[in-house]
Amino acid sequence: MDEHLKRSIMIEHYQNPLNKGLTDDKSYKKVNMNSKTCIDNLTFEYKINNGIIEDARFDGEACAISTSSASILTEMIKGKSIKEAKEIIDNYKNMIDEKEYDKNVLGDANVYDEIYKQPNRKKCALLPYEGLEKVLEGK
Ligand code: ZN
Repeated sequence: MDEHLKRSIMIEHYQNPLNKGLTDDKSYKKVNMNSKTCIDNLTFEYKINNGIIEDARFDGEACAISTSSASILTEMIKGKSIKEAKEIIDNYKNMIDEKEYDKNVLGDANVYDEIYKQPNRKKCALLPYEGLEKVLEGK
């Protein structure tokens, strides 16, 4: 993916984030994630039924990297099984840490494949995935 395309996907998800806005539905699992090094403070909600992530939402204040990453993750994860979600999280973390990963499972999240060049932004890109991980682990 070329630099220009990556940037435009990120900007689009930052300016028009998908799945933004929380619900009052108590059946959703909720997690708040914030960063000490950035303005990022996002709350995520996931509706999980019979091992399938049926819905994903988020809201809050965050930088462009974190907001676009949350938008891409919540959109990508809907309809996925917990097993598939864990696979996505593992591969995404490996990508951020410059380890081997399968880009075929990451969809638009591949736009962060060079975020390691900005070490202080890695946390921003990871935040939504760490939130989902917490929810799946039941923490
Ligand atoms: Zn950030």
